[in-house]
Amino acid sequence: MNPASDAKPLKGLFIRTYGCQMNVYDSERIRDVLKPLGYAPVESPEAADLVVVNTCHIREKATEKVYSELGQLKLMKQASGGRMTIAVAGCVAQAEGAEIIRRQPAVDLVLGPQAYHKLPEMIARASRAVGDRLETEFDTVEKFDALPKTRDPDGPTAFVSVQEGCDKFCTFCVVPYTRGAEMSRSVDDIVAEVRDLASKGVREVTLLGQNVNAFHGAAPRLEGGNDWALGQLVRHIAKVGGIERIRYTTSHPRDMDDDLIAAHGDTPAMMPFLHLPVQSGSDRILKSMNRGHTADHYRDIIARVRKARPDIALATDFIVGFPGESDADFEATMQLARDVGYAIAYSFKYSSRPGTPAAEMHGHVSEAVKDERLQALQALLREQQTGFNAQQIGKTLPVLVTGKGRNPGQLHGRSPYLQAVHFEGPDALIGSLVDVCVTGASLNSLTAELVRAREPAQ
Ligand code: SAM
Ligand code: SF4
Repeated sequence: MNPASDAKPLKGLFIRTYGCQMNVYDSERIRDVLKPLGYAPVESPEAADLVVVNTCHIREKATEKVYSELGQLKLMKQASGGRMTIAVAGCVAQAEGAEIIRRQPAVDLVLGPQAYHKLPEMIARASRAVGDRLETEFDTVEKFDALPKTRDPDGPTAFVSVQEGCDKFCTFCVVPYTRGAEMSRSVDDIVAEVRDLASKGVREVTLLGQNVNAFHGAAPRLEGGNDWALGQLVRHIAKVGGIERIRYTTSHPRDMDDDLIAAHGDTPAMMPFLHLPVQSGSDRILKSMNRGHTADHYRDIIARVRKARPDIALATDFIVGFPGESDADFEATMQLARDVGYAIAYSFKYSSRPGTPAAEMHGHVSEAVKDERLQALQALLREQQTGFNAQQIGKTLPVLVTGKGRNPGQLHGRSPYLQAVHFEGPDALIGSLVDVCVTGASLNSLTAELVRAREPAQ
């Protein structure tokens, strides 16, 4: 899967990734950018010449974790006699900038999410102890132009960034400030990346964006001109030889257009899974969050998606304890979760982020009440997730085999509904699609028996 590198791996690279799939993608691209300089991944930070901490700023806890990790890295750097270079990337880097170096002087470089293509230049400057140690410009187009055109995928699945940034300004969220304005990559650029991945054995791509369904990409050489939406992009990628599965995340209810919904029903490569964050079931709170949709608008989208693809697995994000959230507002959230029935959902206690409008609002909810509400919601969501997984028992499902399991002879893979599946089979099946019969289910995974290997689609 990974062709041998032309560059000699002279230096060890360790990347710690926090946060969303976008950061996972960015970390892979950081690795690609550094490969020509002779950096090769190592298993632990102690063995690394360069440690990159790719950070998340979404909740306060995530930010504090970064500073505690930087404290530990400082000790490792001292033990290495100062040989180790420490770089902080991602959204905390964007938001805090030079403050990071002030709080932790062992940090050598700070670069925002739109600047990691400049890392080689920054490392060179740092080694000569000249120039700036900080890069937090927003220049997304330049970044994608500057990134290596080929990638080394880790297996048969890969993330592909198609859109970045956000103009929605939900009142609780830092993303519009840390990732900048909405921007879409061109269709040609995306398809070239997908073709390269497919030629290296990737069968499933997940199209990524902070608001992935706000995608509006230029396609000057293709029918339809300059403004392709996500549905068109999905249909086009489905024609790339070798790509058998397409997913996308994360989408916003406001951008869920008819063509994208229809693609769930008429494009076989589109997987029956939709992550559509709702945040709250109360219209009053949704308005105060500036979400631009009501609970019923969301229910209506779900009904239309289910009509297009009746077996679709639904996922969402919830925030509990937003300022001003009453017991009745929280009950509306519980009701919405009961009405929809989720295959999986992520739920968070509201975390006040400096500089966002919600941080200045009245009616902040106590931690005790937030805890109580989160526990109640998570109990319901766990029940739904376990129930959804149990529904698969006895069914035969196509599974993309992603790797070896923990025990000899075991494999793991992904169901169409994004469930982890464990079963026994030969290693030669890794990277291919197989049919399995599901024999057991738990909260987080399915167990199954191999039925047959499938021929790859032509
Ligand atoms: N763009 C997506 C959307 O429209 O929902 C999600 C982006 S955000 C990286 C992922 C999730 O983090 C959000 O859906 C929200 O539930 C959660 N989140 C964002 N800001 C938060 C905050 N201040 N406190 C708690 N959770 C937050
Ligand atoms: Fe944040 Fe809202 Fe943008 Fe999602 S849509 S990234 S929650 S501001």
